Amino acid sequence: MEKLSYDAIVVGGGLAGLMAAHQIASAGFKVAVISKVFPTRSHSSSAEGGIAAYMPGNSDPNDDPDFMSYDTIKGGDYLVDQDAAQLLSEKSGEIVKIMESWGTLFNRQPDGRVAVRYFGGQTYPRTRFVGDKTGMALLHALFQRVSGIGNVDFYNEWFSLDLVTDNKRVVGVVAMEMKSLNPVLFKARAVVMATGGMGMLYSHSTNAYINTGDGYAIALRAGASLKDPEFVQFHPTALYPSDILISEAARGEGGILINNKGERFMKRYAPKKMDLAPRDIASRSIITEIREGRGFPGGYVGLDLRHLGEEYIKERLALAYEAAKTFSGVDATKEPIPVRPAQHYYMGGIDVDITGKNPDIIGLFAAGEAACVSVHGANRLGSNSLLETLVYGRETGNSVVSFLRDYSGSTSDMEKEAEKVVEEIYRFTKSETGVHYGEVLNKLRDIMWEKVGIFRDEKNMSEGLTEIMKLRDMVPSMYVTDKSSVYNTEFFNALELRNMLDLAVVIGTTALNRKESRGAHFRTDYPERDDQNWLKHTIAYSKGKTVEITYKPVKMTKWKPEARVY
Ligand SMILES: Cc1cc2nc3c(=O)[nH]c(=O)nc-3n(C[C@H](O)[C@H](O)[C@H](O)COP(=O)(O)OP(=O)(O)OC[C@H]3O[C@@H](n4cnc5c(N)ncnc54)[C@H](O)[C@@H]3O)c2cc1C
Repeated sequence: MEKLSYDAIVVGGGLAGLMAAHQIASAGFKVAVISKVFPTRSHSSSAEGGIAAYMPGNSDPNDDPDFMSYDTIKGGDYLVDQDAAQLLSEKSGEIVKIMESWGTLFNRQPDGRVAVRYFGGQTYPRTRFVGDKTGMALLHALFQRVSGIGNVDFYNEWFSLDLVTDNKRVVGVVAMEMKSLNPVLFKARAVVMATGGMGMLYSHSTNAYINTGDGYAIALRAGASLKDPEFVQFHPTALYPSDILISEAARGEGGILINNKGERFMKRYAPKKMDLAPRDIASRSIITEIREGRGFPGGYVGLDLRHLGEEYIKERLALAYEAAKTFSGVDATKEPIPVRPAQHYYMGGIDVDITGKNPDIIGLFAAGEAACVSVHGANRLGSNSLLETLVYGRETGNSVVSFLRDYSGSTSDMEKEAEKVVEEIYRFTKSETGVHYGEVLNKLRDIMWEKVGIFRDEKNMSEGLTEIMKLRDMVPSMYVTDKSSVYNTEFFNALELRNMLDLAVVIGTTALNRKESRGAHFRTDYPERDDQNWLKHTIAYSKGKTVEITYKPVKMTKWKPEARVY
């Protein structure tokens, strides 16, 4: 197999990966960024509403980083590592300023300061934005910046298959050029997984089709652990029926949720915060309204923006307006937008500490949605993810630099291991019979939505898990119809499905294991939060066909768990 050598490999060209690559390359190390799409097409580009930041002199006079940390911790139902949330808040203003100096043109207030809007779960408004295309603006500015550094090589439309390790030490990554199916062993002392989320595991998701959780599965197969994998976020307002996200900015700017009686139903579920309650609460409230007969036919509620006025909607919520018009035929200036919840974000991720380092494999780092630091705990607050990708992308990049300076790394080739990775997957294109991957994919997505979704219980999850395990057993007999080696997208879809199945087993097992309700993990059979037994992180390993679960304490600094009322 062809081999290439770098100091560090970053898998993922979204905000987290590019920020990490920026730091590593700026310190003089050679970096390869491997991405299955052109970097600016990463899901970060779809982020709409904004990035949270406390900016001294440009925030509410009563606000401070401690308030921001408190909101994040309470929003995450106290499963947040408090030192991680504090670092996030403290570095938030600085990162926005850096991105601004690199060319992100944030919306302004009339006095010239960076504009700000409310997002769910915030005591004071902190979300900074570029209309409702914030992620696009950030990603383009960052990509341009990183492209200007000499020692970064981009491998675009390259699919990362597996990590290669020697005695729990990173040797490199096996990746395949998608155009030719040509595999290459990228050798490096450090690897940063910045592979983003996994929305495609669910039949309803706001995520891009590329969000198939590859990084989580790659880490699991290499023997690394996932932290809090049972926590999946559902966003309350996905457009009906296409599931395109209608940003929380719509409610941040004053939009309200109404049922089929025209009633502002959030007053029943979150009397103070109302429509700006955190996402887990708002999603469950919408499903409850629909289940109790107060939804609209087809199963949705209305997001009413009409009172904001046509000019305001078209300026501040342009994307929401256009999406509703194009994909649902609804003019948001005249009618409420039809919305329902859909999978949106993954709080769980590759276990890393506050420096982005994984404790299981030397040289393995992770950042962004692929990682669990944990700043979001059991439920992420809106606009904290873009912030996390940049703040922790930077921290992780810096700690890779220290690691590379201190550590000479493995010299072994592990060529046989690399060959094995590829042999195993070629059989998808070789066999003519068995199960077509498409059948398995649709079943998996329906099971996850129905049995490991917004409302969970023992009976459904056990059934779901058994079905998922059966689907995973089909992987060896899976085949694709396209046998060519030129842009064989079907082949890569099958590889993604294999990753999704590995992850689904871990999510199902850990969700069944956590016998309480916390944040986005809501169990109808255990509806209360149970701090006595469950105020701890789940740590999960893949062991053959089973999942091994251990625990880690939650880091507490200043804030004691309280009832989570909004
Ligand atoms: C519609 C939508 C709107 C959102 N709006 C907001 C918002 O307003 N504010 C906010 O804070 N958050 C928002 N989020 C969440 C936030 O955008 C994401 O969590 C964040 O951008 C993830 O960034 P990332 O760098 O971790 O991953 P991504 O941007 O998803 O990038 C992942 C990268 O990994 C690569 N990759 C994955 N697998 C492989 C593989 N096997 N081989 C090679 N490369 C691979 C991909 O090519 C891609 O480059 C939104 C999310 C969605 C879906």
